[in-house]
Amino acid sequence: MSEHRIAMVGTPCEIMAASKLQHYTDSPIYVKLGLFCMENFSYKYFENLLEEYDLKMDDIEKFQIDKGFVFLLLKTRETVKIPLSIAKRIIRKNCNICVELTSETSDISIGSIGSDDGWSTLIIRTPKGEEIVNGALEQRFIEAKELSDSQFGLLNKIAESKINKNLEEIEKREFLARPVLYQREKSDDSIAKEISESSFLDLKSNVIDIGACVLCGACEYACPDNLITIDDTKPIMKGQCSEDCHACFAVCPRTFIPEDLRNDNSKAIGEFKKVLSVKSLKHSQGQDGSIVTTLLDYLLTNDIVSDALIVDKEDYLAWKPYAKITSDIDEVIKSGGTKYSVCPVFKPLKNISEEVD
Ligand code: SF4
Ligand code: SF4
Ligand code: SF4
Repeated sequence: MSEHRIAMVGTPCEIMAASKLQHYTDSPIYVKLGLFCMENFSYKYFENLLEEYDLKMDDIEKFQIDKGFVFLLLKTRETVKIPLSIAKRIIRKNCNICVELTSETSDISIGSIGSDDGWSTLIIRTPKGEEIVNGALEQRFIEAKELSDSQFGLLNKIAESKINKNLEEIEKREFLARPVLYQREKSDDSIAKEISESSFLDLKSNVIDIGACVLCGACEYACPDNLITIDDTKPIMKGQCSEDCHACFAVCPRTFIPEDLRNDNSKAIGEFKKVLSVKSLKHSQGQDGSIVTTLLDYLLTNDIVSDALIVDKEDYLAWKPYAKITSDIDEVIKSGGTKYSVCPVFKPLKNISEEVD
């Protein structure tokens, strides 16, 4: 059993992978802070797009998506604003079959949609999430107000439009015999049977090779024999699997989803206890009004978690994302604004599990 109690920050697909890890393994993830996510970008395609603006990755200080635009804050302090309609060409193909805007299996979901500038929308989903938000309010880490009916309506409308658009794409792919396993409704017994008959080759043909992989790294983390590695574009397996192992197929967020984790596509923002608009009283830097940073600060300061699993940017490769585990709030603050970038977020957990074993 791991001694680490980790707060993880992730996009909806990464949070689903974390939920599957909790479901199928002895996971050290204790709190899931999920981000709102419309779509995400390929690092490689982004480099190509920047060339059209006479920019290089190294020119960019910070990157943020808000209200239909990609904002690039340059090291010169200038801001370049690229409409999402242009940036769309660099969207990862797997995002076109994603039917979650708001990280429905998180403890708390966080995003800007529905709130005024400088405020963030929080969707509290679990008793643990409620306890955390109440504690952060009591200790004056955050302040909160209600969303108006129109703000709540806007959030639901945008979530609904993402679901409906991508359900159409799912239908097309299924028609072309490119399965979208995570949207197939199966009983837990039938999923257990599928898993017992599947291994990495099934993951490869049903997820990786058909543009469904979200590059989360859960398969790499779960592999007991360390056979999987992830390069910039996809997981690769080398070696001979143990006969009775199915771990990578089980934990992948794009294979079958157990009944209690499955999205109900008729509920645009999923199940929740409360929705609030909140503002940080501690930090001013970072995406989503610094709320992610502030909640991590609250969790670390109060020893509710031992570490945070976050995404930061490489110093030597402009803002190329990489995941790391830290208990240092200064590290968390430094990473603000990089969380929408795709990278194998579970990679650092491997070192922890090896440490414990
Ligand atoms: S699949 Fe794409 S759109 Fe969906 S949560 Fe992941 S990164 Fe965001
Ligand atoms: S050993 Fe198990 S987890 Fe690793 S690649 Fe093979 S089936 Fe997947
Ligand atoms: S194949 Fe691996 S990296 Fe890709 S989505 Fe599945 S678990 Fe994540």
